[in-house]
Amino acid sequence: MIPRLYHRPATPAELLVTGAHVLDPRADLDEPHDILIRHGHVAELGSPGSLSAPGSAGVLDATGKHAFPGFVDPHVHLRTPGQEYEEDLDSGTAAAAAGGFCAVIAMPNTSPVVDDPAILDSLIERAGRQARVPVGFLASITRGLQGEELTEMAELRDAGALGFTDDGKPVVSAGLLRKALQYQRLAGGVVALHEEDPALSGDGVMHEGAVSARFGLAGIPPLSESTMVARDAALARYEDARVHFLHISCAESLDALAQAKQAGARVTGEACPHHLTLTDDVVRSLDSRFKMNPPLRTEHDRRALVQALRSGVIDCIATDHAPHARHEKEVPFEQAPMGTTGLETAFAALFTELVLAGELELGRLVERMTAGAALYGLATPRIAPGEPANICVADLEASFEVGAERYASRSQNCCFHRRTLRGRVLLTLAAGQVAFRARMLTEAGAGAVAR
Ligand SMILES: [Zn+2]
Ligand SMILES: [Zn+2]
Repeated sequence: MIPRLYHRPATPAELLVTGAHVLDPRADLDEPHDILIRHGHVAELGSPGSLSAPGSAGVLDATGKHAFPGFVDPHVHLRTPGQEYEEDLDSGTAAAAAGGFCAVIAMPNTSPVVDDPAILDSLIERAGRQARVPVGFLASITRGLQGEELTEMAELRDAGALGFTDDGKPVVSAGLLRKALQYQRLAGGVVALHEEDPALSGDGVMHEGAVSARFGLAGIPPLSESTMVARDAALARYEDARVHFLHISCAESLDALAQAKQAGARVTGEACPHHLTLTDDVVRSLDSRFKMNPPLRTEHDRRALVQALRSGVIDCIATDHAPHARHEKEVPFEQAPMGTTGLETAFAALFTELVLAGELELGRLVERMTAGAALYGLATPRIAPGEPANICVADLEASFEVGAERYASRSQNCCFHRRTLRGRVLLTLAAGQVAFRARMLTEAGAGAVAR
C-alpha cells in the first residue's frame, strides 16, 4: 500500500513569494528566487522580480527572508484520542505549522492505544476534519503497549499505519521483538523503537552523572539505551527488518548504530533538538521542563550527536513533541512526567545553537529536518516546479523570546521556554495550503497571504 497522510481540506494556495533566498539542498537551490504558487503547487521559479502574480494571487515580499522545503517531523505525540486536555489534532498541527513543519507522524501511545484498526480508522477520520498539516499514524507493536502480545500488524497496515512502535516503552522481550520484525517484513512499514532497559533505568529521573549525584536524584545511565540499541540492531540485521531508532541520546548508542549501518542493517536513527543543544547541566535548576526520556546527557554526548547528524549516522531530526498540562508538570522534579514540547522551537533552537554557533551548516540542518519523510516512504518536500507547495518561509535575522507570545500547542512544557532564539518562521505551506502565517504578516497587510 502507498503510505498516506491525512489532513482537513482547505483552499489551495494562490500566492507569489518574491525575493526569498530559496535553500533546498536536494534541488541544489541556494539563491534568491520568486516562487509562484498556483492551485497549491509550485508553478514557477524565477529570478527576483521576474514573476508577476495573476489577479487572484496574493503577494508576499520575502526579500531578505529564507524559503526552505517544509520540515517533516517523524515523531510527535498529539495526545489524541484520550488526552485532549494536553493536545489534540487541531492544536498539535497548529504547533507544527507554526514551527515550519508541513507533515508530522503521530505516536500511538494514546488512550486508548492505537492497537486496533477501528481506533486507527476513527483517528484518520478525525485528522481529515481537524489536522492543519498532513498527519501520518503509527500503530503499536504490542496490544495496549503491554509488551506481551503482538497487534495485527498486517491489518493495521491495511488500515493506514505507516509503521509500528511502542514508543514511551521499550519492547523488553527480544523474542517478541524478533517476531514483530518477521511480521514487519511481510506487512511492510517500519518498526520504530524507544530503547531503554527498564532494569537499568530503574526509577531514574535524569541522566546518571555528576549532576544527579550532586542532587541525590536517581539516574538513567546511557547503558540503558545503548545496550538495547545494540541488541535490536543485531536483531534487525539478522531478520533483515526495517528498524528506526527513536530519540538517540548518547555516544554509545551512536557507535552501535554506526556499526549496524556499516554491516548493512536496514536501520536509521533520529535525534531531538533538546539532546542536540542542551546537557544535564540545565537540570540543576530542577525545572521540570528539562525532564524528558531519554534524559539530557553530557556535553560529550551532545557533541557526538551533532557529529552524527553531520556524518549521516543520524538520518533526521525529530522533536518527540510531548505535551503535558501545567498541573502535571508543575510538581517537584522527581514526580513530574517526562517530556518537552518542541514543534514550535525546533528550527530556531537548532539554527541558533548549532548553525550560528558554527557547529552545523544551514543546508545540512534543512536536509535533516526534511529527511523524516523518506523514513516512512513519503515524498520528501522539494521546492521545484510541479511539486505540491510544502514550504517554510523564515526570517533568520529575527529573534524572539520563546513563550512570550502564546504557544500554538495546548501545552507549555517547552524546554526552551524564555530563551531568546533566532530564526523565526513566518509562513508555512503544507500540502498546497497556507497552514500558518505569522501575525506580523497579516498586520503588514497586503491581504497578502490571505488567499
Ligand atoms: Zn520515547
Ligand atoms: Zn516519543
